[in-house]
Order: sequence, then C-alpha cells, then structure tokens
Amino acid sequence: HFNGITEALEATMTVLEESPSAVEHAGSMVLREARRALGPSGGVDFLQGEPEDILIVEFFGESEAEVAARLDRLEQRMVRARQGYAVTRIVDPAAQARVWAMRTAGQNLIANIPGDAKPVAFVEDAAVAPEKLPEFVRRFDGILRRHGTDAGYYGHASVGCLHIRPVVNLKRREGIDQMAAISRDVADLVIEFAGALSGEHGDGIARAGWNEKAFGPALCQAFRDVKAAFDPKGIMNPGKIVDAPPMTENLRYGEGYSTVPVKTRLSFAGEGGFAAAVERCNGSGACHKVKAGSMCPSYMATRREEDSTRGRANALRAALSGALPVDELDSERMFAVLDLCLMCKSCKSECPSHVDMGKLKAEFLHRYYRSHRVPLRSRLVADVHRLNSAMARAAPLANLLTGSAPARWALDAILGLDRRRRLPAVRSRTFESWFRSRRRAGPAPRGRVLFFHDTFTNFNHPEAGMAAVALLEGLGYEVVVVPHVCCGRPMISKGLLDRAAANAGHNVAALFPYVEEGVRIVGIEASCMATLKDEYPDLLPGDPRARAVSGASSMLEELLADTAGDGGPQLRFSSAPKNVALHVHTHEQALIGPGAALKALRLPPGFAVEQIPASCCGLAGAFGYEKEHYEVSMLIGEDRVFPSVRALPPDTDVVVTGFSCREQIEHGTGRRPKFLAEALAAALAQV
Ligand code: SF4
Repeated sequence: HFNGITEALEATMTVLEESPSAVEHAGSMVLREARRALGPSGGVDFLQGEPEDILIVEFFGESEAEVAARLDRLEQRMVRARQGYAVTRIVDPAAQARVWAMRTAGQNLIANIPGDAKPVAFVEDAAVAPEKLPEFVRRFDGILRRHGTDAGYYGHASVGCLHIRPVVNLKRREGIDQMAAISRDVADLVIEFAGALSGEHGDGIARAGWNEKAFGPALCQAFRDVKAAFDPKGIMNPGKIVDAPPMTENLRYGEGYSTVPVKTRLSFAGEGGFAAAVERCNGSGACHKVKAGSMCPSYMATRREEDSTRGRANALRAALSGALPVDELDSERMFAVLDLCLMCKSCKSECPSHVDMGKLKAEFLHRYYRSHRVPLRSRLVADVHRLNSAMARAAPLANLLTGSAPARWALDAILGLDRRRRLPAVRSRTFESWFRSRRRAGPAPRGRVLFFHDTFTNFNHPEAGMAAVALLEGLGYEVVVVPHVCCGRPMISKGLLDRAAANAGHNVAALFPYVEEGVRIVGIEASCMATLKDEYPDLLPGDPRARAVSGASSMLEELLADTAGDGGPQLRFSSAPKNVALHVHTHEQALIGPGAALKALRLPPGFAVEQIPASCCGLAGAFGYEKEHYEVSMLIGEDRVFPSVRALPPDTDVVVTGFSCREQIEHGTGRRPKFLAEALAAALAQV
C-alpha cells in the first residue's frame, strides 16, 4: 500500500529483487471505482486504509513454506527500504482470485467515472525499462497536467508497462485535439526514454502516426513492403501500423456526437441519465464469455452479438445518437434485440462497467407500450398475485384444471404459454392464513422482524415461509407479517412501470412505519427482495421512504449470517451429516453475492455445502414459460445448472434462493430443490 504512484513504482525495483512471478500496479482511480463496484470487480476488502496506489505481488514456490519465506523476506525488504505503509498477505486462493478479478477489471472500472470525459486508450501501453518507470511516469504526469487532465493508472509494473489512460472528452472538438496533443508529446517522451510506443496491445491506428518517428523512414518502408508482399490488394486489416488514417478519425463518439433526450419513468439519476446508462458499455465485450459466471445467459445460449449485453447497448446507443432513426428507440426491431434479455441483473454486477441492461429493458418496454398494445399475456403475468389469489380459493381443483392436458394446450394456443410447462400449483391454505391462525411464539429478546411474504411463498410454497418463521423465532425474533400487494417485479419485467410504481408506493406506505422503528425486513424470494432493494428507489425517486425501505430490506440469509455468533440467542442445529448444493438466484448473486447464503447454510455443523457454478437457471419469472422463449430458457439451464444438478448424488439436497430456480431445476432435472429456509429449518435440533 502506497501514498502515491512514484513511491509505488520506486518500490517495484525493491520487489523485483525477490523475483516474484508478477508485480501489478493499481492506481487511485481503479481503487476508488472498485470500492463502489458490485460483483467480482469490487474485490478491495483486503485494503488497509485508503492507499493511493498498490502493488499486487505474486509468488510461486515448491511448497507453502518456501512461498511464506519469500513473503517474509519481501516484507522485511519493504520495511528496511521504508517503502509502502502496509502489506496484506493473501494466501487463500479464493481471496487471491478476488484481488486478481479487481485488477483485471481495471480498464472497465475507470471507465465508470461519471461524465462524458473518460479514460481513453491511445497511449495506454507505452513501455520503458522498469528502472526508468518512476521518472517516466512523473514526466508523463507532467504532460497530462500541461494539457489540463488526469489519467487512470494500472498495469504491469514489473515490466515497465503501465496502462495510463488520459481522461478526455471525445464528444467535443477540444477533447479530440487534447488527445492528439497528448499522444504526440507522449510519443516524444517514449522515444527519449528508449521505450516502446506499444508494449502489449500493438500500434494499430492510434500509434501508427508516430512509427516514422520511432523507427525511421527506412524501417517503416520495410513494414510497407512486407505487408504488400503478403497482401498486395490491401485487404488484410488495412490501415493499421502503416498507412493508417489519423487517430482523430473513426471515433466511437467524435465531435458532434449527441443523444436525443429520453424522458424516463425509472430514475436514471445515479447513472447520469438514460443515454449515460447505455454508454456505460465501452465495447470491451466482457459479456461475451461462455461457461463462466452468469453474464450473459442469452449470449451463452445463442452466441449472437445481438443477444449480448454489448449488442443491446450498441443498438440502443445507435438509436439514441442518430446512427439509426430515432423511431428505432421504440421499434419492433429494438423489441426483438431486447427480447431475449432475461433481466437477470448479471450484467449489473459482472460487467465491469455495470451496464444494467435489465433496467434499460424495463424502461424500453415502458416506452414501447406507449405505442404498442400490451399483450394479454403480459397483463396476466403482471397480475400473477391476483391470479394466484383467485386460484388458491379454488385449489386443489384449480391445480387439476391448469395441469390438465387440454388446459395446457389452450394456454399454449391462446396465451402463448408453452404447453411443456405446468403452471405452479397453488395451495388452499396460504402462508398468510397459516400465520394468522397460529399462536404467537414466546419471548422475543431480539425484538421484531418483518417477514415479507412474497406472492410465491404465500400462494405456492407456504412451507418455505413457515420454515423462515421457525428460524426467525428460533433466533429470538417476534415475526411481524403485514398485508401488502405484489412487490411489482412481474410488472417491471413487462415494462408496466406505472403499475409497478403504484404497488411500490402501496408497499412502502405499509412497510415504512416499521422501518422507522428500526425493524428489519427480510424475505426468502430473491427477485422480490431485489425489487424492494434495487428498484423501489428508482420507481419512487422523490420518496425518501422508498430508500429507507430499500436499506432495511435483506434476504433471510443475510440476517442469519449477521446474527451468527453475535452474542444474541443462536439457532441450535442437529449435527446430522448432510450434503448440500446451493444454487443462488442471479438477482441475489448480483446484488449481494453468494456469501450470505453459503454462511447461513454452513451454520448446521453437519452440513457440507458446495455452490453450483454461478449461472442463470434460464427461467426468469415468466420468460421460460413463454412459448417463444422456451427453447432458449432450456438451453440456458443446460449450460451448467442442469448438468451440475444431475451430477449430484441422489442424497444431496439441492437448495435454491428463488422460486424461478426451483421451478426450472425441477422441470429440467426432475430433482426437487428446497428453499434455503426449508433446508435450515429441517436441520434445527429437536427440543
Ligand atoms: S440482464 Fe442478464 S440477460 Fe439481460 S443483458 Fe444483462 S446479463 Fe444479459
């Protein structure tokens, strides 16, 4: 940990004396943005204090003892040299992976700084001998200050190649000129330091203009001759390295770039507006990974650019900026581009630039339905709370009817609900009716907690709600249940934002009086709790109560993790051995990660818990029930979730944190997952 970049780079030479396998640098802009980041790019829990710069040093060895000894020696060297103010030693592989994920995300993290001026790659991989790096960076910094700007710094300190991205506004002429001038001065500096204009990424277009200066006319002509010998017609990646156009042409934005103003229903104040939310996508294509993480399930299924987060952002940006006719902003073609987005929130956390395509899609659909008819199916999906309520009054007959072959054919033909699916069964005895009829539990030393009984817990799986109440009361809480309406998630998923806001308003009014008294709100359905937490403040931006409700809302597992070993009453579990495989809902994975669920499931001493590889199950509420989405939904499930579940021994409990995941895993594998609350309540010690 260092208080400045010069100190960090001078320390690199000290570190190199211990022959580490990597010495990477992350500067203040990276660290600042990482602190604000969700998901894997936010791995900064190892930081001590608020360093301006850090060096990440990695050692390999034949044994743990050898590596430990080298770490000891390094620390002693640093102390002797009085370099750095703190060292954090990280030997746990998972914690190491978090640090590397943050460092790898450096480029995208710095792109998150607010405003139109962004760190831009055009001198970002100049390299000099490592011992010259401190002086080189000091002079580089001087060039930036002379041109009135700053930069994001990170990169490979051990080999003298820092990725320095000057902050410029390429939507303005002044910014474009500023970029060209900085590029010229940095090229001169690199040549003076006998360095390389590009140490890693290649000269491409951005550096080609200085090659004549760096290599001389004879070598540049030789480049041309070699290129012409292999590519006489000039068809193989023309205009790179030799005969390149000026770096000020072919820009992503460029002078005159502007976007049409979009009046939004959701608040995009945090992003700087709808266009800024779209422009968060910097085109790096982190969403194009496969078989890793959750983003982007539709791309993983179809492998089409159009079905990736980047493809969707590019389409929206083209319409906003006039590259496409502005009518495209609510066209059927744009609807098709966004149609396979499952609104899973994975990009919100996994995309290092935090493109929140689910939110953008909700806003798009809201706008789209101003000029298009809302389909009957969408209206019914939005009304799932009322439909379930009506069906529960007619259960079990209603279940028999909706599960029958003729009814499934009819739902398929009339509404487009795929006949291969069964509508989830409802219960005549809802959670709410059970809760009202029960006797209150005994003393409550921890005070009150409000259990948010979502639609699916109430009507479809009351047993999961009962299990949650058993856990909360076992912990010493008095459980409060208040009447409320649907959280609004089904409406948001269909873009019916006025209705979602009305429900949010109703629920905030019902919940806030408890929040005001310090009562925590917990739930067990990840997408409903994510709505309270993530969407309510955007649906009701003028209502401070919505922010308070958001702040007080959490998943049951968060409360269980927080209270474990806190000195208050504790749950008593049996020590019966049980293997448990956890699948975390993508909304929970995105907003809080799997940590709380894993910690809660590890409370029973007999539980051996593993996490099913983080990925989307593919159902996403109504998405996978819809005829046109069924195949993609199943393809997504088959990507990793279904094969992982099928590979589990039959006596392993599959545990989920969302209703959709439960339905989809059962549909795709025949295994009946339990909700987390059910698995834990079943392990409570009998008294
Ligand atoms: S919300 Fe999910 S499906 Fe939609 S773009 Fe983001 S990662 Fe892809």
